[in-house]
Amino acid sequence: MDQTAVVVQMRQLIRLLAQHNHAYYVMDQPTIEDSEYDQLFHQLKALEQQYPDLTQSDTPTNTVGAKALSKFENITHTVPMLSLGNVFNQEDLMAFARRIEERLPNQKIQYDVELKFDGLAISLWYENGVLVRGVTRGDGETGEVITQNVKTIRNLPKTLNSLKGEVPQLLEVRGEVLMPKAGFEKLNAENLEKGEKTFANPRNAAAGSLRQLDPSIAASRPLAFYAYGIAQCEPHHGQLTMSASLEWLTQFGFAVGERHFVCDSIEDVQTVYEKINAERPNLSVEIDGMVIKVDDLKQQKQLGFLSREPRWATAYKFPAIAALTTVDQIDWQVGRTGTITPVARLNPVAVGGVTVSNVTLHNIGEIHRLDVRIGDTVSVYRSGDVIPKVEKVWPEFRPVDAIEVKLPESCPVCASPVVMPEGEALARCSGGLYCAAQRIEAIRHFVSRKAMDIEGLGDRWAESLLHLDLLKDVADIYHLHEHREKLLTIEKMGEKSVQNLIDSIENSKKTTFASFIFALGIRGVGETTARMLANTFQNLDALKAADLEALKKTPDVGSITAEWIIDFFQAEHNVEVVDRLIAAGIHWDNPVAPTRQPLNGESWVITGTLSQMGRDQATQMLQALGARVSGSISSKTKCLVAGEKAGSKLDKAEKLGVNILNETDFLALMAEYGQHLDA
Ligand code: NAD
Repeated sequence: MDQTAVVVQMRQLIRLLAQHNHAYYVMDQPTIEDSEYDQLFHQLKALEQQYPDLTQSDTPTNTVGAKALSKFENITHTVPMLSLGNVFNQEDLMAFARRIEERLPNQKIQYDVELKFDGLAISLWYENGVLVRGVTRGDGETGEVITQNVKTIRNLPKTLNSLKGEVPQLLEVRGEVLMPKAGFEKLNAENLEKGEKTFANPRNAAAGSLRQLDPSIAASRPLAFYAYGIAQCEPHHGQLTMSASLEWLTQFGFAVGERHFVCDSIEDVQTVYEKINAERPNLSVEIDGMVIKVDDLKQQKQLGFLSREPRWATAYKFPAIAALTTVDQIDWQVGRTGTITPVARLNPVAVGGVTVSNVTLHNIGEIHRLDVRIGDTVSVYRSGDVIPKVEKVWPEFRPVDAIEVKLPESCPVCASPVVMPEGEALARCSGGLYCAAQRIEAIRHFVSRKAMDIEGLGDRWAESLLHLDLLKDVADIYHLHEHREKLLTIEKMGEKSVQNLIDSIENSKKTTFASFIFALGIRGVGETTARMLANTFQNLDALKAADLEALKKTPDVGSITAEWIIDFFQAEHNVEVVDRLIAAGIHWDNPVAPTRQPLNGESWVITGTLSQMGRDQATQMLQALGARVSGSISSKTKCLVAGEKAGSKLDKAEKLGVNILNETDFLALMAEYGQHLDA
C-alpha cells in the first residue's frame, strides 16, 4: 500500500472510531456492536504497527474513553483510570503470557481471573470510611463527579463496615457500575408499558442512569457496583495479591464478582475462560469476557503500564457476535422447491465462535433493503445458535468498482426462466419438472399416493435411482423397465422388488386428469385446485393454453396461482417432460363435464363421524360433482353434512339457517347424482 493510501485509511478509521466513541461514551447509545468497534480499532492498531511513522497524532489507540461531559463538575484522577488491552483467542492469550514471562524470567506467575463486567468504570473515594466522591473514568485523566448519583446505588457502602477490620484513612476503590440482567429486563418492560424509551443493553442502561443530573433518576434504577481494584490505600492494606486485596475489600461491604479464580498456569486460564463462557447465560450480570491479571501485586508493579493500559492485565473477550468482512461474490442457489436464494460468499471471518464464509441474503428484496453490492464491507451477526446474517452494509468502505446485484433471468441450474409474481417475495425457477435442483422433490411429489401413487419409489428408491443417474426427470420413471440390470445393483433391490416397482409404475399409467395435474407439482396447485382445474378445463391441451382470465375463473384459483400455472407451462422444459409422460402411456378417463356437475361452485362442510364412509370419500363424491369442501361454516355454506356427534359446526349451521343433511340423506342425494359408495 502506498503511504497516501495508508494515511487515508487511518484517517477514515479514526473518524469512524471518534464517531462511535461519542455515541457510546457520551450519548450512551452505540450504533454498532462492541465486537465491530473492536475490529475497527484493531485494524487501526495493525496499520500503526506496520507503519509507525504514519501514526496520526489524534489516534484513539493511545487514549482512554472520551472527554467528560461538561454538565458535571470535572476532576483530575490522582491515579489515571486506564483501559485494558484485549485478546480474542487462545493464541493471543498465550502471546500475552509470553510477554509477561519475558519480563519476569524465572518467576512463578499466577493469574487472577475475574468476570469482565460490561458496565461503566467508576472510582470511589472514602475518607475515614465515608464515601466522599464518586467519579466516572472519562478520558482516563479527567472524569465527571457523580457522587450524588453514586450514593443511590444500593449495594455500595456509603460508609465502610468497620466491624471486621480497621478502616483506612483514604481508600480509592475502582469498580464497575452495572445493571444486573433481571433489573434491566424489568426496567425495559416497565418503560415499554409506559411508552418510554427502552435501552439496547444493560451497559447503556447503567451509563444512561448514572450520568443524569437528577439523582432521583439513578435512584429509581436497579444499579449495582462491583469492585475490581484498589487505586490508593493509606495506610497500605498489606495484601500481597490481587485476589487477596479483593477479598479484603469484601469485609467493608463491597460486592465483587460472583465468580473469581486464581490459576497456576495460562492453560488453566483458558479452561476457566471456556467454563465461564458456557455459564454466561446463568450469571446475574452481563459480562463481555474475562479479565486476566497477574495476581502478585509486586509483579504487577514490576510490569508497569503502557500509555493506555497495564502490562499486567488484559481483557479476554468472548467470541464476537458481530464482525466485519467483505462480500466476494453473490451466488444464486436453487432450493428443492425451486426457490432462488441469493447467497453472499464472504471473506471468511470468525463470528460467534465459528468461521463464516457463506451467508444467505434470503431474497432480492433483502438485497435491495440492505443495498449490498459485490465488494462491499458488511457486518455479519451471529449470536449463539442463530444462523449468521448480514446485519448492515458499510457504504463508507464501498470500493468504486462494487457491483450491483440483479435477480437472474434464468435459473443457474437448468436455465428455465426465473419468475416472481407481483406481491411474492421469493423468486423461483419455473422448470419445476426438469430442474436438477428440484429433481428429488419433484419425484417424491410425483409418485406420492394422491398423485401418481407409485408405491415404494419415493421413500425407498428415489435417492438410489438418482445416484445411478436413472432419473433426470419424472418422465424417466416410465423408462426404468429398460434398466432392469442396473436396478438390480441397488442395495436390497432383488428381482421381486424390481418387478413390484415396474408393476407399480405400469399400474400408475391409468390415472385421473386431476391426479396428473396434481402430480406435476405446479406451485399453488394442491389436490383440490387440481380437481377444479380438471373439471374446468377437461383436457390437457385446454389447460396448457389457458390464459390468466380463464384460469382465474376456476373455483379455488387466485391470481397468484394462475400466474404460477402460466409460468409452469411457459417453461419449455416442463412441457417437454409433460409430453414425454403422455407419450409413455399415461392416460385417464375424461372427467365429468361441468354441465354434469350439479353442485358446481357450491361450498359444503362435513362434520361429525360418518358410519359408512370416511370423510375423504364423502369429500371426493362432493368434489366430483363440482362442490368445494370447506372446513368452516359461513353464511356462504350451501349445505352441512352432519354425522354422529356433530358439535359446534352443527350449532352454527342451525343459527345461520344453513341446510343440514344427515348421512342417510346425504348418501341418497349422492346416489341421485350417480355417486355411489365403493363396494
Ligand atoms: P474495555 O471495556 O475493553 O476494558 C476496560 C474496562 O473494563 C475497564 O475500564 C473496566 O471498566 C472494565 N472492567 C470490567 N471488569 C473488570 C475487571 N474485573 N477488572 C478490571 N477492569 C474491568 O475497554 P474500554 O476502554 O472501557 O472500552 C473500550 C470498549 O468499549 C471497546 O473494546 C468496545 O468493546 C466498547 N466500545 C464500543 C463502542 C461502540 O460503538 N459499540 C464504542 C466505544 C467503545
